[in-house]
Amino acid sequence: MRGPQPEISDFPTLPPSRKFTAILSVMPSVYIKTYGCQMNERDSEAVAAQLVAKGYSLAPSESTADVILLNTCSVRDAAEQKAVGKMQTLAAEVRRHRPGVVLGFMGCMAQSRGRQLIDKLPDVDLVIGTQKFHRTADYLDDIFAGKLAKVVDVAAEAGSEATIREHLLNGSATDKSVTAFVSIMQGCNQYCTFCIVPYTRGGERSRSIPDIVAECRELVSRGVKEITLLGQIVTSYGKRDLPVNDGKSAFVQLLEAVHEIDGLERIRFTSPHPKGYGDDLVEAYCRLPKLVESAHLPVQSGSDRMLKLMHRGYTRERYLGIIEKLRRARPQMGVTTDIIVGFPGETEADFEETLSLARQVEFDNAFVFKYSPRKDTPAAAMPGQLPQEVKEERNARLLEVINEIGARHYAAYVGRQVEILVEGPSKRNPARMMGRTRSNKIVLFEGSERHRGQIMDLKINRAGSFTLYGDPAIINME
Ligand code: SAM
Repeated sequence: MRGPQPEISDFPTLPPSRKFTAILSVMPSVYIKTYGCQMNERDSEAVAAQLVAKGYSLAPSESTADVILLNTCSVRDAAEQKAVGKMQTLAAEVRRHRPGVVLGFMGCMAQSRGRQLIDKLPDVDLVIGTQKFHRTADYLDDIFAGKLAKVVDVAAEAGSEATIREHLLNGSATDKSVTAFVSIMQGCNQYCTFCIVPYTRGGERSRSIPDIVAECRELVSRGVKEITLLGQIVTSYGKRDLPVNDGKSAFVQLLEAVHEIDGLERIRFTSPHPKGYGDDLVEAYCRLPKLVESAHLPVQSGSDRMLKLMHRGYTRERYLGIIEKLRRARPQMGVTTDIIVGFPGETEADFEETLSLARQVEFDNAFVFKYSPRKDTPAAAMPGQLPQEVKEERNARLLEVINEIGARHYAAYVGRQVEILVEGPSKRNPARMMGRTRSNKIVLFEGSERHRGQIMDLKINRAGSFTLYGDPAIINME
């Protein structure tokens, strides 16, 4: 399924050092560094798995890799600057000592800037857009075989939403991961005025239910116990392809189909849009026990005036109504959110409405972002752009409220028993094992490899910053 030809013709020929690597015919090693969201992490994993399947190895760090790919994010300017800065360092430090190393950009910034990236950074060999991840292995083969010098491919490709499907499951031969992300759709049709995603990822395109279920089944057969369904707005899944059936949206029909898989213990999804929480989805929480009590519901602002300017499609009242319904359906529901501070025209009164909404909902946690103007988005041209100091100040005040509520929520778990799925050793302290509650709280405990993949009851004895600590609960069998 090849799209239009990539832009390759007017680049200089292959450097001699690269030809040498090709002649050696040793399969190169690859290092992928990912910026941004879980979808980007998932795309990187799929590309890595595709490369491994072709015989490439995964380098433990960029210092030994033959290919270094930066999978980029465009949601905020800081993320773009980081990736550009990293590429400049790689060109100056790694390339200088190992001229044969292939350097590439993938993902959202690659999509939005395309060829400009090579004009700005001539050491870059490869620019792969968001609908072309699956072509990375072929382009690298062509570069190493001396057929292509440089490639820029940011064209649209029909069917590309179904190409993010391979998994590494820890990258080891033993396939140890018990959790996995499954990309169910690509793109976004919401056009929030602050957001670059519809321009970098294109319009919404959904995979079919049988295709997604087959991928989930395969993961479960390899030991996966928990699956997170992924999309820019997962609740819009299949809207144009699958009619509402028996009052159930396409997304709820998908949840039901995944729920049927024997051996799967838990289902999560991210990111939904608040307006996607119809009664069918709320009701699904009551009848699908594998659907965990956890909702990440991006609110962005507590002010109706801001929500309208942002083109979010709901009001504060409607958002609060959804939270109330979800908590009524599942009282233990963990609720997290995304909030933007310093959107153009946000007054102190608007911001205080956001503070009051955070206090009213009592989020378990929130990702707080300082508004960053993005190229070609309507908000970037709106009047009332706020100075950086105002954004910083509001960011700090909101975080104080979020942290205070979070600390209180987490402290309330001390002395309680929770059910966790053990994922593996803690990243920060591998001597401890890490699991998550159904409401998505991280719990650490003294355990061992034999606990991996188990659903365990733990008694919480301490709460830290957005982390719980527990001991296996002793069950009295009398
Ligand atoms: N599905 C999500 C939603 O309902 O909006 C969008 C996910 S987006 C990739 C992640 C978050 O980045 C958004 O929820 C928003 O809070 C933040 N974000 C997006 N554009 C931004 C911008 N221009 N400046 C600051 N934060 C932004």
